[in-house]
Amino acid sequence: MRLSDVKTGESAVIVKILGHGSFRKRMMEMGFVKGKKILVELNAPLQDPIKYKILDYEISLRRSEASLIEVVREGSSEAIAMHDVAVITEDDCGFLNNFDSERRTINVALIGNPNCGKTSLFNSASGAKEHVGNYSGVTVDAKKGVMEYNGYVFNIVDLPGTYSLSAYSPEELYVRRYLREEVPDVIINVVDASNLERNLYLTTELIDMDRSMVIALNMYDELERSKVHFDYETLSRMIGVPMVPTVSKSGRGVNELFDTIIEVYEGRNEVVRHVHISFSKDIEDAVKTIQKALKSEAQLDQHFSARYLSIKLLENDREVLSILQSLPHYEEIKQLRDRLVADIEQLHGEDIATTIAASKYGFVSGALRETMETDEKEEAKTTAVIDSIVTNRLFGFPIFILLMWLMFWATFEIGQYPMDWIEAAVGWIGEMVSTLLPEGPVKDMIVDGIIGGVGGVIVFLPNILILYAFISFMEDSGYMARAAFIMDRIMHKIGLHGKSFIPMVMGFGCNVPAIIATRTIESRTSRLITILINPFMSCGARLPIYLLLVGALFPENASIVLLGLYALGVLVAVVTAKLLRKLHYKEDETPFVMELPPYRIPTMKATLRHMWAKGQQYLKKMGGVILVASLIIWLFSYFPRPTDADVEAVRSELVADGIDVNTVNVETVAATENSFLGRIGKFVSPVFEPLGFNWKMTVSLLTGTVAKETVVSTLGVLYSGDSEVGNDALAKRIVTPNPSTGQPDFTPLVGFCFLIFVLLYVPCIATVTAIVKETGSWRYGAFTLVYNTFVAWTLSFIVFQIGSLFV
Ligand code: GDP
Ligand code: MG
Repeated sequence: MRLSDVKTGESAVIVKILGHGSFRKRMMEMGFVKGKKILVELNAPLQDPIKYKILDYEISLRRSEASLIEVVREGSSEAIAMHDVAVITEDDCGFLNNFDSERRTINVALIGNPNCGKTSLFNSASGAKEHVGNYSGVTVDAKKGVMEYNGYVFNIVDLPGTYSLSAYSPEELYVRRYLREEVPDVIINVVDASNLERNLYLTTELIDMDRSMVIALNMYDELERSKVHFDYETLSRMIGVPMVPTVSKSGRGVNELFDTIIEVYEGRNEVVRHVHISFSKDIEDAVKTIQKALKSEAQLDQHFSARYLSIKLLENDREVLSILQSLPHYEEIKQLRDRLVADIEQLHGEDIATTIAASKYGFVSGALRETMETDEKEEAKTTAVIDSIVTNRLFGFPIFILLMWLMFWATFEIGQYPMDWIEAAVGWIGEMVSTLLPEGPVKDMIVDGIIGGVGGVIVFLPNILILYAFISFMEDSGYMARAAFIMDRIMHKIGLHGKSFIPMVMGFGCNVPAIIATRTIESRTSRLITILINPFMSCGARLPIYLLLVGALFPENASIVLLGLYALGVLVAVVTAKLLRKLHYKEDETPFVMELPPYRIPTMKATLRHMWAKGQQYLKKMGGVILVASLIIWLFSYFPRPTDADVEAVRSELVADGIDVNTVNVETVAATENSFLGRIGKFVSPVFEPLGFNWKMTVSLLTGTVAKETVVSTLGVLYSGDSEVGNDALAKRIVTPNPSTGQPDFTPLVGFCFLIFVLLYVPCIATVTAIVKETGSWRYGAFTLVYNTFVAWTLSFIVFQIGSLFV
């Protein structure tokens, strides 16, 4: 009987908890464990919740929850001694037998596609002689049978065959109702081993439900007869569901199957774990949003997990809609759902169920791709044809490099044109404002602070947009998943998984979403390592610095230098990952599925929208952090104003250095050197002198920790004053010879070391915050700060010192 049926004042012993995995876990954490006695303090029919006493404390459960707890009634209501079954007294014996036989009954249900051999399995297990047919639709309703094995009694139910669990056909509805109302202890998902791709689709739906499950890999004889090699053990570990090969016609493997069922039922199977089948980002976000809304509903149905209900709700599943209808906020949730769905459907240009199904097929084909080797020629589907090229052993890698090169080439070369226009516009605005405003601090602030700072960064908007267009396209088209796939072997060499690769490529855009995207990595240590190496993936905010310096110092070899920097970042990431694995995190071998979604040409709209979303973020950053930072930097570089004595001191210093003071604007030099910023820079700059950086570069690196673009705006502010150079573009100003040394501050060698430092040193505040948030500990943020800066300093130091010997 169920706990909800036990009356007030009676007590019962818990036999088992039904329902989905996380519900079972929650109940167990609350003390609802097999064999525990429980007293019903108040169970008024038609009234929710019900009050219970377990151990020594009171708990109230909703009726819907109590109905998922299987119990046996205890003999006398007076004997409410709070003891576990383990302490056996004579009085208990009769009741204990009762408890034990209930506990040793396992209800199992056979679920699978039509014709996969369910009825044959049912017959060979239960000894029944049900009709077995080689055409679908023979089993119209459930057949029940009983089997005893190894001290357990199995109630076996043979359900009608279904291809999925959507609520369309009567068979599907039947199976769904059965799962909901009868709540079998363990599901036997029968799959036809000779037709895995199609059969495993249903498995993905069952995985979503998060119920206890075992897969019978049926028709194993046919698989053996074909030349296919299938590593089902790895696949079981990937999907967290044990698989047992069976030949139900002959009864082979049936005992092993039931042994495994017992293990799963008793919670002893090591393979069992709940995995999420992840969708594309838009859908995953929508699922999370609905899930959150559902979880705040007190009366949510506990037969299914909130994630499952959310997915089904997005698919507009009629049954789930009717289950949820009774919720107090049903209308709001439904409206939320409609809004999300309309948005996603418009974006993808197809109905959402199709998009979700495609993700599931992606999961299946990714899982099989890694565990199954076929000799047969695959059908010439478009996806298969493209895959045979881009994931080819020989060509896969060069194609990837070529695409990356194309991405950086386009970012730099194509981006150059609009960049020139914006640059011209910024210059023009600067001049206009200069001529219109009267001399004084306000004019200086607007021209040098705002236009110099923000303008220096905003010119790179087109480049960033191009970079993002490439990344969005690769993600949306399905290529990124393949790139992860071909990288898998390499990633394993550094102790990671192909799945870590996608956040790494995303890091080229921005490290913050990339670090959040590591949530799809199920292994804790792999995820931590992926997070910690992500800042070495050079983000879009560092691009303006590269573009500025590469454009000024290496215009001939721009693409190569740029690609080289990104490659250096990757190399440092790889070495770091290897070190972390070796020194700190032991290898963990939990394999997981890499989804291989079918290819699709992303709609223009989706790509543009993703690109624009990033562009907007960039602009917001300009108007916010960068603007404020530029103003503060300007203030610090402007004040305090030098006194005449300061100017004289600088003049005599210059004269002492043998510089012709008539070619130098001594007031400007004195002003910057005397400012707060100049003082801070000079204070810190001994640390950076061995790298060849002057105090202006040092200051820009300090301000760059707010947001990397700020390095450019700081240089824009600090390199603005020299009157001879006037409003020339910043790129020209930084390579103009410094009057006090006669040399440009940025020589190619210094510039290169500066680039290396910018690439590697501590990421911006937003990224450090994301690291702390996602890892749940400030230690990882501190590690990033210290380690990354240390690596940056050391590498720049080595390059500068060795380079100085030759230049
Ligand atoms: P159901 O629709 O899932 O109930 O499938 P059935 O049990 O009716 O079986 C469909 C067909 O597959 C029958 O012709 C069975 O004899 C055959 N079959 C079932 N199990 C196996 C197996 O393990 N190996 C082989 N080769 N055939 C099987
Ligand atoms: Mg059948």
